[in-house]
Amino acid sequence: LFITFEGGEGAGKSTQVRLLQEHLATIMPSDRIVRTREPGGTPGAEAVRDFLLFGEHDLSLRAETLMHFGARYDHVDRLIRPALEAGKVVISDRFTDSTAAYQGYGRGMGDPAILDLIASLRQQTGARPDMTFILDVPRAMARERLRARGNRPDRYETAAEAFHARVAEGFAAIARQEPGRCITLDAAQPPDIVAQAVARHVATRLPM
Ligand code: C5P
Repeated sequence: LFITFEGGEGAGKSTQVRLLQEHLATIMPSDRIVRTREPGGTPGAEAVRDFLLFGEHDLSLRAETLMHFGARYDHVDRLIRPALEAGKVVISDRFTDSTAAYQGYGRGMGDPAILDLIASLRQQTGARPDMTFILDVPRAMARERLRARGNRPDRYETAAEAFHARVAEGFAAIARQEPGRCITLDAAQPPDIVAQAVARHVATRLPM
């Protein structure tokens, strides 16, 4: 079972990923659960993450997009696919929908080019999330959460508000296009309420 969490920064993805892992660990052996993130998840992909988020560069949009996919292939080949093949539950903080939303909608590469890359990844590796939670939070609240978190803002977090609005629009469009896979949750609610909703949805897919 492959579960992904998506949404803008400050939506509470990493909290929900952790809460779902903790919940699942109460109903199955903890070594059957793999928690990971993108960009990153493997040593090579984490190095690419560091470069993409904090490196001194001004990559062209296509180059940036392909680097996200380069990191993702390493992540899928070395971590996600082996875990899924071993029958584990994989929970990832971001996956392909982030590239569609950030590079496709936010930076303006457009949907079709990214969808081709996603289709090609799927064809070559079989990687496709079974369920995706899209955490939706008003931008003002997300900004407040990021400020309270107080860590080093990366190049995307400091982008203009219009960029974040396009990213949010991208996630909404993805949710409309794939209603079978995507579940949009109101992440302005308290984290434990969101976590309960996540757990209810996941329960419907777990082999009993
Ligand atoms: O959510 P997290 O902090 O892990 O995301 C790292 C950063 O990478 C965020 O600022 C996010 O906006 C950005 N990102 C991106 N394109 C992606 C994935 C993440 O710009 N495809």
